[in-house]
This record gives sequence, C-alpha cells and structure tokens, in this order.
Amino acid sequence: MNNKYRVLVLNLPGQVLKSGSRWYNVIKKESASLRYYPYPWFMGYLTSLLKTNKYDAVLKDAVALEWTADQARNYIKEYKPTHIVCEPTWVSSEDDKKFVKKLPGNIVKIAVGNYATNYPMECLAEGFDYVVVGEYEFLILDFLKSGGKKLPKNFVSLTKKTFEHPDLIEDLDKFPFPERDDTPIEYFNEPSCYGKNVVLVTSRGCRFNCGFCNVEAIYGRHCYRMRSPENVVDEIVELQKKYKFDEIYCDDDNMVARKSHVDGICREIIRRKVKVKFCCMGDARVDDETLELLAQAGCVTYKYGLEHLDKDVLAAIPKALDPERSLQIIKKCHELGIRAYANLIVGLPESNWDKDLDMLKMVFAARPDLIQIGIATPYPGTAFYKKSVEKGWLISKTGHDFDVTGQSVVSYPDYSAAKITEMFHLGWTMWYKNVILHQPKTLWFFFVSEVRRNGFFPTIFKSFSYVAKTLRRSK
Ligand code: SF4
Repeated sequence: MNNKYRVLVLNLPGQVLKSGSRWYNVIKKESASLRYYPYPWFMGYLTSLLKTNKYDAVLKDAVALEWTADQARNYIKEYKPTHIVCEPTWVSSEDDKKFVKKLPGNIVKIAVGNYATNYPMECLAEGFDYVVVGEYEFLILDFLKSGGKKLPKNFVSLTKKTFEHPDLIEDLDKFPFPERDDTPIEYFNEPSCYGKNVVLVTSRGCRFNCGFCNVEAIYGRHCYRMRSPENVVDEIVELQKKYKFDEIYCDDDNMVARKSHVDGICREIIRRKVKVKFCCMGDARVDDETLELLAQAGCVTYKYGLEHLDKDVLAAIPKALDPERSLQIIKKCHELGIRAYANLIVGLPESNWDKDLDMLKMVFAARPDLIQIGIATPYPGTAFYKKSVEKGWLISKTGHDFDVTGQSVVSYPDYSAAKITEMFHLGWTMWYKNVILHQPKTLWFFFVSEVRRNGFFPTIFKSFSYVAKTLRRSK
C-alpha cells in the first residue's frame, strides 16, 4: 500500500444530483420517494484505479448516502484524507463553495467534471487547489505518482493557468472494474429498472452530436470508445457473484452507437449463457436486428433519446432522426417484450407550444412504458449554450437554475420561458393521466418495483400520494 496519500473521492453533499447524472438537477420533494440516485461511475473508476495502484482511496457518495454537510465533514475528520476529489456543478456551486472553503487547508482539493472543465478559474477562486479538465482518472493517478510535483497537461492551478484536454484512453479495458463497496450498491437507484439494480458502463461517447449534450463537453472531442464484449460480460459475471440485484442498468452515453459493440456484447452474453436482465441506454437509430439481439440477451428496458418528433426541431438540435422510426421502436420493443422508455425534451430551439404538445400527444398515443420529460437546458460548453448567448435566449445570470427538471432558462421570441415551464408540467400531468387511464402495466411495474425495493406498506403510502398529486394537478 502506498501510505503517503489518502484520497477521498467525494460526491459532494446537497440536493443536487452531481456525478453520475448527465443532467444536473435538484432532487425534488415529489420525486424524492423514487430515490433516483445515479451511480457516479467516473468517480467509481477513479477510486478503483487508485486502489489497484495500491493507493488508500475511498468513494463516498454523500448525495446517495443522504449525508448532510456536517455528516460529510465528520467523515472527513475521521478518514483524514490528504486529497479530496469532487465534482462541483453550476446548479450547486454556492453550496459546493461553502463546503470546500470550510475544509482544512492541509487537504489538497481537486475539482473534476463538467463545471470544472468549463470554469477552471472559478473553481480555483472557490477554494480548489487543482482543477482537472476533461476525463480525469488516469491523469490523477499520474499526478499522485509524481508526488504532486508534475502537473499533467489538463491540470490547472493558480500557478499553471494554461491547459489542454488530455489524450483519451482509447482502450477502456485498461480500467479496472469500478468500486462498488465503499458506498454500497443499494444506495444507488435507477427507477426505470425493476427492483434492486446496479449500474454498468460499456462505452463512452456517442454517434450523435446534439447541441444540448454535455457529454462531449467533458471528453473534449467527438469520439466513441468501447470496452470489449468479454470485459463487459466478465464484469456482469463478477457482479452476479458478489451482489444480489434484479437488473443491471447500462448507463452508457449511448450503448448502441456502434452496432458491432452492442451486438458483440449481446452475442457474448448468449454464448456464455449468462442469465441477466438489463436496461440499455441507446438511441432512436437502433435497428431491429440489434433490438432482437438485445431481447435475446436479457434486455428488459430499452431507453432512448426520442427527444422530439418535429423535423425542424430535430434539425435544430441537430439530430438526424426519423420521427417515424422513433415511434416504431416503441412498437418493436412491445413485440419483443421489452419495456420502451422514451426521453423527451420540451423547449428546444424551433419548437413552440403547439409542436411540443403535438409531440407529447403522439408519443403518449404510441404507449411507451416509461418516459422522461426534460426542459431544453443550455449547459455551458455546449453549442446550445453558445447559440443561446448569441441569440439572447438565455435568461439565467448565474447558472444555479440550470436544472432540466426545474424551470426553463431560455426564452424564445415566440415561446417564453414561462410557457416552456408550463408545458413541462403539463406534459407530466398528461403522462400521469395517460398511465392511470390507459397503462395499468406501467403502474403495476412501478408498484411491484417499489415493493421489491422498499416493502409493501411504504409503497402503498407513496402510491396514494402520487394519485392525490395527479388528481390535484389535473383539476
Ligand atoms: S444522443 Fe444523447 S449522448 Fe448522444 S449526443 Fe445526443 S444527448 Fe448526447
């Protein structure tokens, strides 16, 4: 063991979903009962990489553990880290700053992630000693190996203000499997999975380049990198040996971006006769052959960015999707016995009240099993952000309200922020009504899944409060 350093990899406490969440958002009271706590897989990989290299490292997710700032501070007093690595965000930056400023001066504080990548100088001003731009795991290891003397090219400090994005790790099999025990897996939850679930990532990057997506902002360039099918299935088998869970959530940016990758994983699962149920995060360009293979391999939920159905809105994203195919996927999933989960966005450029409403009606009529509605939010570092600034659409001054499930921070001449926010709430109300009236299977899925996770009586209580909320909203 390299005893010189003790590294605490900390998902900072607070009400904002940070590492693990592609879209930072505040945990809302009404949805908190579903416990959407994404596994912070970048942090998980960093921790396991350090441990594999004989460093004393620990991953604590204060969000998933529901720690207060004081509880996190008490843990720090006890663990006595030499270094803390954490991921501040725009949405939580005021709280993050307060927390970091109160940390003992002898701890080296390192900021990583999207906000750090886009605002390194602000992070230094907020009390961090170093900011790591872009993908960070192997570069933090190099930094520690050099005894903190050699700053890799993507490190920023008060004395090194120039930086470059790092060379990306092309072969993702070089990573050890991510850390799973420091913050036990049951603290994390992806509500679109049934019962107890665990997150796995098979690739990084995407084949699209959506203007609102902050995924490419962290990698610094458009690219798709993969683990080998053997490596992925080895991890599935190891997870099954070590833990009890119902489903795996493949939380890739896009698991189906390269057909040979996703098909290869499915064939490897089938070849090794691994019995697993998993949810795949993919896209709306997937072909039927891949969907069929996914079903054979054990995929039970296909989650994808349908985003919108209007051709002008899709062109403005830009995202080359065929609206007809986006809806066909739902039908194909049903034929294969897979739950179809469509991600939808309101308030995109070129959209308006009528287009968003039509899109929601058409999607709901196709009866997806699960959906997510988000508000188009221009995260700094994205093309959408630049355009929103240029066009004068952006109404947020601070970024603290860059919350895809809060209120719109863009306002178009013919579609105001207030109307977009109203559409977001209307969309959810329409969905709840649709589920109650037409989709008992979806209700049943949530019910049995919650019973599995939390027990019968707490689930009954939650179910009543959901129905009451929906009835109140629809009045
Ligand atoms: S499809 Fe998803 S992951 Fe890919 S660029 Fe678009 S938003 Fe990002």
